[in-house]
Amino acid sequence: MLRLNICFSPIFLLFVYCMKSSSSSAGAAIGVGISKNCPNDHSDLSYFESAPKPCFKNPTTMELIKSLNQTSSTRQQGSSSSSSESDCTVWTKECSEQLLWLAKQPESVKWIKSVRRKIHQNPELAFEEYETSRLIREELEKMEISYRFPLATTGIRAMIGTGGPPFVAIRADMDALPIQEAVEWEYKSKNAGKMHACGHDAHVAMLIGAAKILKAREKYLKGTVILIFQPAEEAGNGAKRMIGDGAIEDVEAIFGLHVSHLHRSGIIGSRPGPLLAGCGFFRATISGKEGQAGNPHHSVDPVLAASAIVISLQNIVSREANPLDCQVVSVTSFNAGEDLDSIPDTVILQGTFRAFSNTSFYQILARINQVITEQARVFRCSATVELFENEDRIYPPTVNEEQMHEHVKKVSIDLLGPQNFMLAEPVMGAEDFSFYNQVIPSAFFFIGIKNETLGSIHTGHSPHFMIDEDILPIGAATHAAIAERYLYDRKL
Ligand SMILES: [Zn+2]
Ligand SMILES: [Zn+2]
Repeated sequence: MLRLNICFSPIFLLFVYCMKSSSSSAGAAIGVGISKNCPNDHSDLSYFESAPKPCFKNPTTMELIKSLNQTSSTRQQGSSSSSSESDCTVWTKECSEQLLWLAKQPESVKWIKSVRRKIHQNPELAFEEYETSRLIREELEKMEISYRFPLATTGIRAMIGTGGPPFVAIRADMDALPIQEAVEWEYKSKNAGKMHACGHDAHVAMLIGAAKILKAREKYLKGTVILIFQPAEEAGNGAKRMIGDGAIEDVEAIFGLHVSHLHRSGIIGSRPGPLLAGCGFFRATISGKEGQAGNPHHSVDPVLAASAIVISLQNIVSREANPLDCQVVSVTSFNAGEDLDSIPDTVILQGTFRAFSNTSFYQILARINQVITEQARVFRCSATVELFENEDRIYPPTVNEEQMHEHVKKVSIDLLGPQNFMLAEPVMGAEDFSFYNQVIPSAFFFIGIKNETLGSIHTGHSPHFMIDEDILPIGAATHAAIAERYLYDRKL
């Protein structure tokens, strides 16, 4: 699936964004021919169209790298402020423009979309991302980027820069979902019942695009950028496994992004503090004594006990939680069998809970256990509660460290303009990026994919999900700028 031939072309070495064509897919779904390719409704992305060229002109990849290196030498020899500006000794608007210019090269855009489309066509579930991982490694090798593999079965830790400290990481997840794609387009999933319905194909493509940019600017890096391609975000806590296998060894900060259908295409959104909820699940077995429904006094009715439990669980949030601290407890399954004339001996209740702080999250978890067991006892029943704490089904809240958020905001505004950054609302969804978040300072942010013209308006995990592929170079440039500038600012 790899396009080896084109990747050695100099321009590609430079940068390469390629990713997805979800927008195209969206276009196809709404009847826009893929060959014409979805109409570009990007009046909002004027910054992308108007980004001025940097000082070098029409370079091949190697020429560009050479040019950058020469500038770097000049910087080291001279001390005048003018030469400093052009080679990013002092970070100026021109440095951001150089990054964006690399991202918007037509061959690079084409390449990054093609990478995304290849991954989209071959979605792989958690810990089965073998071909996706292979594709990534081949692209890294073509760029002469070193990496460590495998981590967490299919994960990759790649490295660009000096090889020494400081280390900063940028991360993408690789796994797809067990969903049958309903979007009819040229690059539809070829794997029945599997689909990149959450945009992780785009995340991978944007990170590879960032790798191209960073490799082209390697001489400028004042430390080392670690690129983390992780498996199993959707299931299995891949991030936790990656950390266990050394993915963030020596890393002092990490950044990650997710596509968002809630934000207009190309908009970067984030916020300090809680951004995504912590998420957990429970399964309770309420046990009573089976009996004839006509003579209930000879039975111990678990249906009644379970019904009271459902009501009591709602009181945890409505009566015990601070109303300004958003929390959720939802019972999503109530199974007492199908016999119309008997009282069953057991009822199975299942559900989920969410909170935006670890304190609230673990408080809810403890109270769910307590309420279920105690309430069952009121009705002479017994209960056991599984909270899946050891089965990788708990996701802590994703909480952005304030300084890391400020960094994302500053870099995004400098790169894309203040009109293309917004303070995002917290979202009740969960992300296993939170595991990195618990170990080192971090920030997670959204990149908008919402484009009504293309039809990229569906929520993640929908079989109709699609993205606006034109955001891929923007995401790659943002990733690269965040990492490069983190090292730059860190050194000051
Ligand atoms: Zn998802
Ligand atoms: Zn996702």
